[in-house]
Amino acid sequence: MHIAKRANQLEPSATLAASAKANALKAQGVDVLSLTVGEPDFITPENIQKAAIQAIQDGRASFYKPTAGIPELIEAIISRTQQDYGLTYQKDQVIVADGAKFILFNLFQAILNEGDEVIIPTPYWVSYGEQVKLAMGTPIFVEGKQTESFKVTVAQLEAARTPKTQAMILNSPSNPTGNIYSKEELTQIGNWAVAHNILIIADDIYGKLVYNDNVFTPIATISEAIRKQTIVVNGVSKSYSMTGWRIGYALGDETIIRAMVKIASQSISNATAVSQYAAVEALAGAQTKVEEMRQAFENRLNEIYPKIALLPGFTLEKPQGAFYFFPNVSAAMTMCGYSDVNDFVADLLTEAHVAVVTGIGFGAPEHIRLSYATDLATFEKALGRIETFIRSKKQTN
Ligand SMILES: *Cc1c(COP(=O)(O)O)cnc(C)c1O
Repeated sequence: MHIAKRANQLEPSATLAASAKANALKAQGVDVLSLTVGEPDFITPENIQKAAIQAIQDGRASFYKPTAGIPELIEAIISRTQQDYGLTYQKDQVIVADGAKFILFNLFQAILNEGDEVIIPTPYWVSYGEQVKLAMGTPIFVEGKQTESFKVTVAQLEAARTPKTQAMILNSPSNPTGNIYSKEELTQIGNWAVAHNILIIADDIYGKLVYNDNVFTPIATISEAIRKQTIVVNGVSKSYSMTGWRIGYALGDETIIRAMVKIASQSISNATAVSQYAAVEALAGAQTKVEEMRQAFENRLNEIYPKIALLPGFTLEKPQGAFYFFPNVSAAMTMCGYSDVNDFVADLLTEAHVAVVTGIGFGAPEHIRLSYATDLATFEKALGRIETFIRSKKQTN
């Protein structure tokens, strides 16, 4: 069959591929411990489930909805953002879609012409670069160094800037590193973007998953000029344990939002109605579950971090947010005779029965990602297996 270049050249999602591989092995009866998942392991809170059931029974979920989102959800997004960010957005500055992933896909379609450049700090979420390419844009990767807590500086951004630079992505807290940009760093980056008319795409999806003494500052809150230059991307997947419901949203400049609504009108029509009603309850209802889940992640982080930091050949700082560890494992690989992280991760799966994601899809080939959206007992058992694996390889090589 004839397949288009754009599909042939596309990399499949590295994280989804890794969990599929782990699941395939599990299906053969192997006791695989999977640390690959990029989603909370809690069931969606009951008040949200009930709102969805009610919407179905009332017949509200049966029909097409306005493309930008149901009015109740647009209002809930505006008031949640008002409460969390202290910023007021108008109704025509908001769009809802089937997940933040599709919001980003649509956004790149709306803003990029062929050859337009988007600066993506590394390590980055696996879909950014491929989505930019699907929109005929060019991803420009700027290295966030591990020694700089994986954060890029204005000097680095300026060196990467060209007349074709349209946008930059800022994902704080970051998937995969868990790091958070400080207010000072964001001020510098935001002012730079304003000065050069570069759109800031703020992927704030982990904004509520911040631990210990760390503070998340949304870049849009730094100044009015920066807010105008920013599209805020968010969703209910990570904070409300609603990945399967597929609801994400964007807030920002109305001309960009209008273009996105037009694209949505010719592609998805509207985000799934029942999920939109559920999301209204998530954003407007009681927020106690969000804090309970955050607390559970924080406890895991604090329990596991000291142990993972002690694994032979692993180096990492303590993550500040999200729910991932992203250690540099180059020393462990050398110790065990590996030069390619793909081989290391493949053997970890087939020999130690622990599934993790290689850093390659995140633009960091010396790293692996381990998700602590996994219960503590499973994670600790997996750590034991990883340690045994490394020690056994070390002896034989
Ligand atoms: C999970 C994730 C998303 C997408 O979330 P949706 O489930 O599509 O709403 C976007 N950005 C990052 C960094 C993520 O980890």
